[in-house]
Amino acid sequence: TKRVYDFAEGNRNLADLLGGKGANLAEMTRLGLPVPPGFTITTEACREYLANPRLSAPLVAEITGHLRRMEAAMGRRLGDPDDPLLLSVRSGARFSMPGMMETVLDLGLTDVTVAGLARHTGDERFAWDSYRRLIQMFGRTVCGMPASAFDEALDAELHLAGVASETQLSPAELRTLVEAYKKIFSEYTGEEFPQDPMAQLLRAIQAVFSSWNTERAVIYRRQERIPADLGTAVNVQAMVFGNLGPDSGTGVAFTRDPATGARGVYGDYLANAQGEDVVAGVRNTVPLQRLAELQPDCFAQLTDIMSRLEHHYRDLCDIEFTIERGTLWMLQTRVGKRTAEAAFVIATQLVDEWTIDLDEALRRVSGAQLDQLMFPRFDVSGAPAPLAVGVAASPGAATGKVVFTAEAAAAATEPVILVRRETNPDDLPGMIAAAGILTSRGGKTSHAAVVARGMGKTCVCGVEAIDVDPAGGRFTVGGRVVRQGDTISIDGTTGRVYSGALPVLASPVVRYFEGELAPDAEPLVAAVHRIMAHADAVRRLGVHANADAPADAARARRFGAGGIGLCRTEHMFLGERRALVERLILAGDDDARTAALAELLPLQRQDFLEILTAMDGLPVTVRLLDPPLHEFLPALDEVAARVARARALGEDPGHDAVLLAAVRRMHEQNPMLGLRGVRLGLVVPGLYAMQVRALAEAAAERVHAGGHPRPEIMVPLVDTVQELEIARQEIADVLATVADVPDIPIGTMIETPRAAVTAGEIAGAARFFSFGTNDLTQMTWGFSRDDVEGSFFPRYLDLGVFEVSPFESLDASGVGRLVRIATAEGRAARPDLTVGVCGEHGGDPRSVGFFHEAGLDYVSCSPYRLPVARLEAGRAAV
Ligand code: ADP
Ligand code: MG
Ligand code: MG
Repeated sequence: TKRVYDFAEGNRNLADLLGGKGANLAEMTRLGLPVPPGFTITTEACREYLANPRLSAPLVAEITGHLRRMEAAMGRRLGDPDDPLLLSVRSGARFSMPGMMETVLDLGLTDVTVAGLARHTGDERFAWDSYRRLIQMFGRTVCGMPASAFDEALDAELHLAGVASETQLSPAELRTLVEAYKKIFSEYTGEEFPQDPMAQLLRAIQAVFSSWNTERAVIYRRQERIPADLGTAVNVQAMVFGNLGPDSGTGVAFTRDPATGARGVYGDYLANAQGEDVVAGVRNTVPLQRLAELQPDCFAQLTDIMSRLEHHYRDLCDIEFTIERGTLWMLQTRVGKRTAEAAFVIATQLVDEWTIDLDEALRRVSGAQLDQLMFPRFDVSGAPAPLAVGVAASPGAATGKVVFTAEAAAAATEPVILVRRETNPDDLPGMIAAAGILTSRGGKTSHAAVVARGMGKTCVCGVEAIDVDPAGGRFTVGGRVVRQGDTISIDGTTGRVYSGALPVLASPVVRYFEGELAPDAEPLVAAVHRIMAHADAVRRLGVHANADAPADAARARRFGAGGIGLCRTEHMFLGERRALVERLILAGDDDARTAALAELLPLQRQDFLEILTAMDGLPVTVRLLDPPLHEFLPALDEVAARVARARALGEDPGHDAVLLAAVRRMHEQNPMLGLRGVRLGLVVPGLYAMQVRALAEAAAERVHAGGHPRPEIMVPLVDTVQELEIARQEIADVLATVADVPDIPIGTMIETPRAAVTAGEIAGAARFFSFGTNDLTQMTWGFSRDDVEGSFFPRYLDLGVFEVSPFESLDASGVGRLVRIATAEGRAARPDLTVGVCGEHGGDPRSVGFFHEAGLDYVSCSPYRLPVARLEAGRAAV
């Protein structure tokens, strides 16, 4: 197979083989843009090398062949003592990946060729400076020398010459410096700096291959979920020089503002410099616009190329370029990274410019980006520079006083930020209590990050610049000390950490969904409005809300819900009603039970009435009581303590003694697998009947008032069709006794594996299914959601057992398989069966696509997730 591609042979569709950089260099070459000639060694060659770390003879022959062609094109030869060709060797994987080997520039310089370069360019200073750079770069990237190894020699030479920067050194001084560098090189590596240009080249290529597995690269891949077996390509390219005088230079540019999406050319330029000088920040760049004055011809050519690239890629591009003595050279381009805001704005701009259509605009944004735009943010307009920046682990804006222990966080009465080196399961209570979490170690799969995301809590982790000293009650960052009790602000969307309290702004996108901002209020809102409208127009999947309070139902409507997919009833049993529930549980005989239920009935009816009113005309799926009853009783140790105290004082514990006995009697080792769901309905006489009557009477009242109530009744945690048959008969009997009730479909949740695999039978008794994917995930995997996320999940994520928590994104191959089976068999038994999902996954961007593809009718999620689900349902349909 072919392992080396000339830039003229490849194109942008070959990114798997040529890496992103190589594929795009090839594409630019094909477009006829000025790209220095070169070739790309494929990722396949890299994979072979990693399996067997030597360059095979055929590969070396292929490389040499391409090199010869390049020499012919350039009219220069590698190692030519009179006019040497110099090369850059650049890594370039499929996905841009920091942590791999950086570029080696000026390769091909030796004691002999450096003189030829000086003669040919007429610039002796430049030639020796380039040689110096090569020794340093080669030492660092190929031989693993520390970047600082050469600092001392440089400082000594500057001191001796009495100048401040290396640009002021004379050719003779640079020559001395090169000798010093070569000496340091041989001391460190035990060999002379290689004088054979071909050997330099082959070693640089091997170093790029090997850098695929550096620790930093491995960590980065894990964090970004990039497969570990892709390998990197290597680009070998003729050098062009931006450091040949004032009419030379180098720069980077974007075809639009990657922060806001605003139109126009953005970038930085540095005259008389090589690319690495820009990155190193040793000298100050000027805005790209200045190039229009410095080199008008090059600027015109550059802007023309940029608009061609944008049209060609039909997207925002970023580029790297170099100007050598008035000639422009393109060194890199790619579809540029951008903020979530810019993604929406640019997508609609491109529609207006006739570059893409609305379907494509919808594909180019994501639910995750919309999610980011919905979090409140800090107003950073008057803010100080951040103290430090870390990994943006869980979005949000949190301000609070610094505490260093979970106990302090749990005890705090004001908002606090829990600051730790890293967190562990013991910190959980503190993490729950804190407004935000900040750690100095660990990435996106660390304990802190996983737990914070699960709780929707703001978290910045891996801020290596801060040094946490819990014993001293302080952390230090860049020489500043922040003490326990000092206020800081952390931004989980950008990873920034600020000193002091920053003002918080509500997200304009949320204000738009709430109806507080008009669609044309600002460019971002206008873009979101347009793309959401398109998503709604094309999506096939319905989007309903999980809501059980009238205010939530009203918000759900504003946020675009097509109904309520899950109205839980347990929240209606809390607060002051707990006493009534207690009486129900403690009831010794039928009369006492009936009396307690009779008192609950009007309260429950009022709840339903309000929700049916808020959702008039839309379906409201009410789930009969699901959680174990003892959740409504006080905790065992609490009552036990009260009883013990009373007895110790010689008093009669009275009611508490009865309560204690009940709590003991009902205690379960595994409440999640105990007396709950339909099991309650079957063993607590009158409970479900009361709930059904309340709902039916509320619906009838709405009908009398001229409304259009559309209630549905959902039975939870069914295992077998027999359970559902019994419950359904009881429900139907009650419905028959209430006048003027609209048709109320009766259906069931599918949330146990047994229900899923007997769905064909269950469908005989159910008009609809709703997958409870939280329980279904828990029971399919056999682990408890409440216990595992903080304990072994971070380790599992690290080990790659799964890439994301199955409670966060639906496990498509396991739990998803059950969903498919149940849907297919349910529909086979009852063709008009409605199938939805009401677990947390209904609002997860990654899972919505699965539900669309599995053919479900709707997803249901919490009101704030509705826009994300609508957007992803639209994306799944285009
Ligand atoms: P990165 O992926 O880190 O951007 P690159 O391979 O793009 O690394 O190289 C970094 C910089 O090195 C480029 O932006 C450019 O300034 C310089 N460079 C790379 N190849 C050449 C070349 N052929 N001629 C001149 N400079 C180059
Ligand atoms: Mg680059
Ligand atoms: Mg459930």
